[in-house]
Amino acid sequence: MSAAGSDCLFCRIAVGEIPAKIVHESENVLAFRDINPQAPTHVLVIPREHYPHAAALAAGRPEVVAELVVAAGVVAEQEGIAESGYRLLFNTGEQAGQTVFHAHLHVLGGEWLGGLVG
Ligand code: IMP
Repeated sequence: MSAAGSDCLFCRIAVGEIPAKIVHESENVLAFRDINPQAPTHVLVIPREHYPHAAALAAGRPEVVAELVVAAGVVAEQEGIAESGYRLLFNTGEQAGQTVFHAHLHVLGGEWLGGLVG
């Protein structure tokens, strides 16, 4: 684990320093609406603890990866998209389009999302 703290946008959201539209939270994870939604439902689920991307989180706290996916399911139920379907996405690294280097799981749904990469 590396501690990004005040340098990391999502760490600052996790401790309440920067406001976010929180839709779900538990001891280890937080879910909030993406500021630039790409679908009718677009929520980010993050670990409270800083890891730069999903692979680092999986190496350090694999059980928290499962908690992210469980939280995504809770969010999908809340948003009414659990039955119609939704997409879970980890952008991992720059070439994948990752722009915020604090692990986060995108939860996208509420409309037809097309094939594998949209
Ligand atoms: P990435 O491209 O997978 O790293 O996704 C980062 C996401 O964070 C993008 O979809 C952004 O729209 C979103 N984002 C950036 N800043 C904020 C914020 O302050 N609040 C909520 N979402 C944000």
